[in-house]
Amino acid sequence: MPRPANPAPGEKRSAVQAKGACVCGAVSFEIDVPAVWAWHDHSQRSRRAHGAAYATYVGSWKSRFRMLDGEEHVTRYEDAEAGTVRSFCARCGTPLFYERARSPKIVNIPRANFATRTGREARYHMHLPELADWTWQGEKLVPLKGYPGVMWVPPGRRRKPPPEDVI
Ligand SMILES: [Zn+2]
Repeated sequence: MPRPANPAPGEKRSAVQAKGACVCGAVSFEIDVPAVWAWHDHSQRSRRAHGAAYATYVGSWKSRFRMLDGEEHVTRYEDAEAGTVRSFCARCGTPLFYERARSPKIVNIPRANFATRTGREARYHMHLPELADWTWQGEKLVPLKGYPGVMWVPPGRRRKPPPEDVI
């Protein structure tokens, strides 16, 4: 999947790029802006892969994606059962690229890997039936007495019912 930093002769290239990187900075890459779309992934696999309530991805055409540095640090995990490939930085563990067999021309990149705008807002939610019931869904927060900077949801506040899958 990784491509050379220089576009092939005649390849159309956007005038604007968004650069992304891992935590340690060994791996960097860019996509042409705007990206195809951006989405929140509530699947259990992505939750575990990111160690977070859910993952937010920016989807880019692979033809509009370029590795800039550190390709030798990128390690791939092929999940044959799910039909996906997840790549991460072998130095710092940052999730980098998420490829799905159902969308072979798209590479999904964690939105958090980009410091700049990608041209798409994350408006879409996928795999909502797998949403973790401990995910904060915008319930009203109040300050926790005696702990400056800590906000919490007091007991008894009703959670929203689990949403239906929309896509
Ligand atoms: Zn790294």
